[in-house]
Order: sequence, then C-alpha cells, then structure tokens
Amino acid sequence: MLIDGERVAAQGGDWIDSLNPANEQALGRVPAATAADVELAVAAAGRAQVGWQALSIFERGALLKTLAAELRAEAQAIIELEAQDTGNTIGALPADVAIAAAYLEFFAGLATEMKGETVPATPAGLHVSIREPFGVVARIAPFNHPFMFAAAHLAAPLTAGNSVVVKTPESSPLSGGLLAEACGRVLPPGVVNIISGWGHEAGDALVRHPDVHRIGFTGSVPTGLAIQRAAAEVAVKSVSLELGGKNPFIVLPDADVDKVAAAAVAGMNFSWAGQSCGSTSRLLIHESLFDSVVDAVAAKMDALKVANPLDPTAQMGPVNNAAHHARVMQLIDTSVAQGGRLVTGGRRPDGEQFQRGFWCRPTLFIDHENSLPITREEVFGPVLSAARWQNLDEAIAMANDTPFGLTAAIWTNDLDAALRASRTIEAGYVWINGVSQHYVGTPFGGWKNSGLGGEESLAELLSYTRNKTIHFISH
Ligand code: NAD
Repeated sequence: MLIDGERVAAQGGDWIDSLNPANEQALGRVPAATAADVELAVAAAGRAQVGWQALSIFERGALLKTLAAELRAEAQAIIELEAQDTGNTIGALPADVAIAAAYLEFFAGLATEMKGETVPATPAGLHVSIREPFGVVARIAPFNHPFMFAAAHLAAPLTAGNSVVVKTPESSPLSGGLLAEACGRVLPPGVVNIISGWGHEAGDALVRHPDVHRIGFTGSVPTGLAIQRAAAEVAVKSVSLELGGKNPFIVLPDADVDKVAAAAVAGMNFSWAGQSCGSTSRLLIHESLFDSVVDAVAAKMDALKVANPLDPTAQMGPVNNAAHHARVMQLIDTSVAQGGRLVTGGRRPDGEQFQRGFWCRPTLFIDHENSLPITREEVFGPVLSAARWQNLDEAIAMANDTPFGLTAAIWTNDLDAALRASRTIEAGYVWINGVSQHYVGTPFGGWKNSGLGGEESLAELLSYTRNKTIHFISH
C-alpha cells in the first residue's frame, strides 16, 4: 500500500492472496487493510491536502502530466501483471493504461473550467461563487479494470485540489502496487494514498471515516446501496455511483446483418470476458432480421479465440475470480433449467488447459420474454441474450424493462426511429450505430440503479468541488 509516501503493509499483518484466474495459481498478495490503516491513510491525505490545494492549477497539472508519462513508460509491466491478475487479454490492455494517462492529462488541462459565477445581486456589491475542493476524497475501484479505474479516477479530484485515498478491489489488486510506486515517485507524500483490503472492512471504514466527505464509487449495485447507507449513518456525504448495467442493443429492420453482428460481439467486450458495466448484453432484434442476426452473432462468438490472456492473439480469457465464475455458471444453469434456449456456449471450452481456471465459453441465449435470470440480472460475464420485436414501441418497452439504465445501442439509418428511441430509452449513455466506446469529455453515467453522477467529463471535475458563495457588501 502507499500511505504518506511510504510503501507499507497492513498494521494487522493480514494479507489477501491473488490467484491467476487462467490457472488458479498463486500470483501475489496484498495487505488487508483494516480501520487502523484507513485512519493513517486519511490522516496523511488530510495533512497533504493543505499543501496540494496551495499549489497553482498549473503546478498540479504539471505533476499529473508527469504521472501520466510515468504510467506510459511503465505500460508493459503494468499490462503483463494486469493480464495475469485479471484475466483480461493482453492485446486489449494497452488501452487501459492509455486511457488512464489520457484522463490525467485531460483533467489537468481542464482546470481553468472550474469556474464560479458573478451575480448582479446588488448594484454596488460583488456577489460571487467559487469552487473549492472537498479535502480528502475516497475512490473505490472494481475488479474489471482495476488499474485503469484506480489511476484515471485520481485525475478529477486531484485537479480540483483534493487529496485521494484509493481502495483497490480485493480481486485483482496487484497492479495497485505499480500505481503506488508511480504515485510515490511523482506526487508529494500523502496526496495519493492507495490501500488494499476487503470491501466490508477497509472499504466500509473509508466510507464511514468522518474526514471523508466525498466518495466516488465504481462497482456493483448492492455495494453502491451499502455505501449510501453507511455514509448516511455517519454524516451528510457526497456520494457518486458508477454501477452495473443490463444494457439493450436495439436492431432496426434496415440494419446491415454483418455490421450488426460485429457490433453485437464488440459491444459485449469479450476481451474482458464481458465484464464491463457498459456491455450491451441484451440484443433486441426486429423479427425480420432475428434469425440471420442470431446466426451471424453465434458464428462470430464461436470463432473468438479463447486463450490464456498472455497470448497476444487471445480474444477472451477467463472470468475474473472463482466466486464470480460460480455465479455466472449458476445464472446460466438456472436459465437453462427455466427453459431458456441456449444457442451457443454455456460451459467451459474443451481442452485440458481450460479445466482449471475460471473459464466459460462466449454464451448466447434466446429469451423472447425478457424473463430469464441471465436477462433480468447483470451477469457481468460472457453471456448475451437475444429477443425479437415487431414494432419500435415494443422494443423500447423491453429495453426499459429493467432496473438498470447505463448504456444503450440503437442500430439504424432511420433518423426518425433513432431519434425516438434515443429520447425514450432510460439510459445515461446511448450510441446510435456504435457500441462500447467511450469518448473523452462526454459525460458517462447511469440512470435508475446504474448510478448517480457523470464521469469522464467536466461534470466529473466539478463534482469534486463544492460551491462557496461570497458577498462583498458595499457600504
Ligand atoms: P463490488 O461492488 O463487489 O466491489 C467494488 C469495490 O467496492 C471493491 O473495491 C470492493 O472491495 C468495494 N466494496 C465492497 N463492499 C464494500 C463496502 N461495504 N463498503 C465499501 N466498499 C466496498 O464490484 P466488483 O464485483 O468489483 O465490480 C463489478 C461491478 O462493478 C459490476 O456491477 C459492474 O457493472 C460495476 N462497474 C461499473 C462501472 C461503471 O462505470 N458504471 C464500471 C466498472 C464496473
């Protein structure tokens, strides 16, 4: 862990082992922080924040750009570790480091946009609002892109003059050590503190700490709800939540079957075994194209190269960890038991190398009723379901028939239909003729149970500031 510029173990001396999900071999271990370590991290962050806020935005920005350069220079080591620790494929992982570095630079350059207002409230006085940092910010990261989230999520709070305590996930935490080393080399001690540990222990202690007034969380809905409850038991805290999704992909009758099939596969983010909040995991296809799209998607899924994530030609690796793999397989099994039609996948790939580790083939179900467990719940795995519809209102109703509202894709050249669907879909991030891709500077965030707040944009930066209104009274 990194606390006050020092690399430290947990005071209690406990550790969390990390397994390679491709073969279940031990890969490394991280300290299991307890409330005592959280106390040290928050105290260090509190001391460091004063000096950090006193720097100019350009001095802070220069340090964030240096950190971005360090991460780029270390990219190979980061992605080799991350591929083994997460199961994400090494061919796709350079983007995680590039995105983290890009956000450090983007927010550093956006600092002058932290503007306030002047209000002509009196003729002779001056009435202004300014933006100030919260102080110590907590950021809690999930297992699917542990390095990218931990690193990219430093950028907005640091730019705004906060110090940060990051909690890495208990599964796939090892790259947090490389981030800790880079932060230790570049930033003043205590400005960034990185702790590892169990969510219910280290995470909960961080959320409840009285000196943490702003919490940025990325993870599952149940944990997001637990964090809101825990925070509310202690104090009034500002909590933003980037949570799960069960995202629809609506295919209209004018769509090109091959392009749609390629997009449906791309939208599943199989490079991360489907473990992306934004994965479009519910295909809603007009009945005229249903059979041809399903056949084409199944063929493309069957053709994906499932292999060790360190193989540069691998297109999908294992699911992240044992408990998550068991849950994915259980959702598949109960969906089959409830009469779900399995088109492809649903089990481990054939071959000796896939009998250990947390493997599952790319899986496609047909579920016209939108009722199977794999369709209702966020599987967060390599599982896609397909349903057919007759008119667009029916498709939109199916798309919205979920407690989630993160992303949605609509595939058509019919401008009127695209407009109607995009305006009536309950989701925070909608692609017309696109999937999966995020665009720097555009707000990303969920509706309904998918979250609160918009990241990756000016909105994220401003959310790490609080307003102060100052009145200069004329006498
Ligand atoms: P998770 O909720 O189990 O854990 C996320 C983090 O929260 C971990 O660091 C964990 O230790 C911590 N945590 C757990 N319990 C806690 C508690 N009581 N108090 C404080 N912290 C606690 O999620 P996960 O399984 O690591 O990640 C998968 C989930 O994340 C999926 O639902 C996925 O959709 C979501 N996700 C969302 C986005 C987004 O931007 N919307 C991005 C990535 C992942």
